[in-house]
Amino acid sequence: QEITAVMWLYWILLVLLLLALLRRLLRGSSSPNPFSADCRRPPAPLVTDKDVRKKVIKQGVLPASTSFSLHAILVDHYMEGAWYPRGGPSEIAFHTIPVIKQAGGAVLTKAAVQSILVNADGKACGVSVQKGQDLVNIFAPIVISDAGIFNTYERLLPAEIRTLPDIQAQLHMVDHGISGLSVFIGLNGSKEELGLEGTNYFIYSHQNLDEAMNCFFTASREEAAENIPILFVTSPSSKDPTWQERYPGKSTLCILALAQYEWFEEWKEETVQKRGAEYESLKNAMVESILKTVLKLYPHLEDKIECISSGSPLTNQHYIASPKGELYGAAHSISRLQAEATAILRSQTCVPNLYLTGQDICLCGFMGALQGAVLCASAVLQRNLYSDMLRLWRNSPANNSKKKD
Ligand SMILES: Cc1cc2nc3c(=O)[nH]c(=O)nc-3n(C[C@H](O)[C@H](O)[C@H](O)COP(=O)(O)OP(=O)(O)OC[C@H]3O[C@@H](n4cnc5c(N)ncnc54)[C@H](O)[C@@H]3O)c2cc1C
Repeated sequence: QEITAVMWLYWILLVLLLLALLRRLLRGSSSPNPFSADCRRPPAPLVTDKDVRKKVIKQGVLPASTSFSLHAILVDHYMEGAWYPRGGPSEIAFHTIPVIKQAGGAVLTKAAVQSILVNADGKACGVSVQKGQDLVNIFAPIVISDAGIFNTYERLLPAEIRTLPDIQAQLHMVDHGISGLSVFIGLNGSKEELGLEGTNYFIYSHQNLDEAMNCFFTASREEAAENIPILFVTSPSSKDPTWQERYPGKSTLCILALAQYEWFEEWKEETVQKRGAEYESLKNAMVESILKTVLKLYPHLEDKIECISSGSPLTNQHYIASPKGELYGAAHSISRLQAEATAILRSQTCVPNLYLTGQDICLCGFMGALQGAVLCASAVLQRNLYSDMLRLWRNSPANNSKKKD
């Protein structure tokens, strides 16, 4: 009897195994891309409360075109608290430049690259740089562009190379990211006096962000100015432990909002800070509407404001050369996270000796751009730098002392 039971069990297991194999064959062996689901309906097991599911924070791109998994990674990063560079973001360049110089490099400012030089063999061989009224050619065995995929492919490469099928295929996989307004406020008072914290606030005026954003983006620019649906509000000075030493009794607020590049496009040829009264009045209407919301959050700050400076998508275009005033480079859409796009949008380009780096190669933000740089350096050196970093980390005294603790 025992033998018969074991036999039956054996047959049942075999049938189950065969059924599982058959199912796998019929459905295809690849598991679904975890970045494909959008943000509108976070998976039920993760957020069980129905009301809370409606309120899950959404940001950056519209929820309908944002990957839920990517968003979850971002939120998880924020849950542990984000990072802020001690001394402010200029410290990043300040500490990077000596490393570049030590390796024999040079850092030039106000040196706009006009074009990437390509030799008769179709290989990148340097850049042509504006110096005053002149163009200076700088030759190099390898050219790495951090100017973003659109600038590099559509403006800096020679016209005959821009039309190459591989370049066009990559360009078709990306869209311009969302552009925005920035408002910087100088305040009288320390963070303690003003009750400011090193926190990021995301303020939403509607539950249905897709609907609100679609209304906002399709409205006239005058109507949009009255009804800005999402604000990011933060106090950079409160995050920096060195701030009060450097600027005692002062604080700052920084606010970001989304905006359409097209609302400001008509002034794109005008000189920065001289774009005229109509431009200023549109920008100021948006700034006033933003301030109204911010002062609801911080009503006690109204008489502490010392100065306000604001930027439009054209400001981003001027200062960081984003072609359409993008805040974060190419759009972080779900299509960009599909296997084909991630396989094709690589640092190595179809132009020999030309590489792309920065946010368009991985993701936006300081950390995203840094990952783009590691991927680029790995491609140039033909070596997996992530393995090197892992080895470094394993052997670092800081890691070992942590283990002992
Ligand atoms: C207002 C604002 C606030 C942000 N806040 C945060 C934040 O708090 N935390 C965070 O992690 N990220 C933040 N980001 C995003 C972050 O700044 C970017 O994701 C990151 O800087 C991208 O790095 P990158 O090196 O790819 O590009 P960039 O930092 O944009 O660098 C590209 C550089 O190339 C230069 N360039 C372009 N074309 C040429 C040319 N032809 N010749 C010479 N130079 C050229 C540009 O001027 C620019 O300096 C913010 C972005 C904005 C706009």
